[in-house]
Amino acid sequence: MANISQVGEQCFGCTACEHICPVSCIRMGQDTKGFLYPTVDEKQCIDCGLCLQVCPYVSDSTLDSDLFPETTVYAAKHPDDATRMQSASGGAFTAISDYILEHQGVVYGVGYDEELTACHMRATSTGQRDFLRGSKYVQSNLGDTYKAVEQDLQNSLRVLFTGTPCQVAGLRNYLQKDYENLLLVDLICHGVPSQKVFKDYLSQMEQQEGCPVTDCTFRDKGKGWKNLVMRLDFQSGTKKIDASDSTFYSLFINGTILRPSCYECKFTNFNRPGDITIGDFWGIEDTLPSFDDEKGISLILVNSRKGETFFQSACDQLSYVQSTHTDCLQHSLFAPTKAHANKDAFWKDYEEHGYLFAGEKYGGGR
Ligand SMILES: Cc1cc2nc3c(=O)[nH]c(=O)nc-3n(C[C@H](O)[C@H](O)[C@H](O)COP(=O)(O)OP(=O)(O)OC[C@H]3O[C@@H](n4cnc5c(N)ncnc54)[C@H](O)[C@@H]3O)c2cc1C
Repeated sequence: MANISQVGEQCFGCTACEHICPVSCIRMGQDTKGFLYPTVDEKQCIDCGLCLQVCPYVSDSTLDSDLFPETTVYAAKHPDDATRMQSASGGAFTAISDYILEHQGVVYGVGYDEELTACHMRATSTGQRDFLRGSKYVQSNLGDTYKAVEQDLQNSLRVLFTGTPCQVAGLRNYLQKDYENLLLVDLICHGVPSQKVFKDYLSQMEQQEGCPVTDCTFRDKGKGWKNLVMRLDFQSGTKKIDASDSTFYSLFINGTILRPSCYECKFTNFNRPGDITIGDFWGIEDTLPSFDDEKGISLILVNSRKGETFFQSACDQLSYVQSTHTDCLQHSLFAPTKAHANKDAFWKDYEEHGYLFAGEKYGGGR
């Protein structure tokens, strides 16, 4: 393979290649579905091969399992119920990031900008961090985040970076060395839709409602954590929609609108790129019923010695019990999400007729 453009649809869109290029000849551009892919200015390219070296699809970027052979598994919840209600799962992110912030560190995670674009952002206070709570089921814009993280690390700040496994793997490769002051936390991940389709969905909802959407929460817990309910805040008020009644949410869950590389994701197993992995502890009602409740339980995998040391220092911010690989197993930990049979038909109709038509035809709901 000569350069990164040949990776094609296997590309995760992580931006490591764009930022490592010594002659800045790689740009991320959007395809018709809204996913970002690198394009190379061949006239400027000096064939150094760095873009391929840092690409998490081409180069391995998971932790060396010989150094820490057995991931430790925990079910955990934040002791403060209000925190858990504002978190997607059991509030593990808040506990981990609190420790970093208390030790003068910086936290990178995903929040919405004014246009409801999900972006990686930098937080140095609990107020800024709170803005990063909650899962946004869409591929975040990383922008120049990898460079900003590198700068913070070189300035000897303690850094927490959270993201999807491919984003964490991209950062690990981009940095090309381990920093003692960096903690990488990846999410268990079902896959990501594009921002373009998400925005199309929001526009449709705004048209129906006749006023702008001001916020979107994918995991409203009013009916309990195990029910997937989206809350849309409009200028005129709030609407709660069950996942099965939302075209976007159903097409996300059933594997119609994910990034092509998600259907072949190499991170849907216990071989993780992060020091710590966080997700939902699905099935807790059967495996640890006494620990279960409707406010959300986090699954925490501790994957490296650094992760273990951190967890030992920070775990008093959580209530937790040890679990097992078998008890915590969920689909996103043993196989990539399967593409829905209607996937290609959806995209054809989307490209020809737009989201309103394709969403209603294949997504049901509104
Ligand atoms: C696209 C996506 C798919 C997921 N799929 C699964 C799954 O199949 N199974 C499972 O168990 N868990 C999945 N999760 C993880 C789960 O939804 C929670 O995000 C996770 O358990 C953290 O919850 P919390 O209560 O600890 O933190 P919260 O306080 O809710 O914090 C959420 C964390 O997720 C990060 N985040 C939010 N949106 C994004 C995004 N778009 N891209 C990158 N990072 C983001 C935030 O920066 C923060 O670190 C997924 C998350 C995302 C974003």
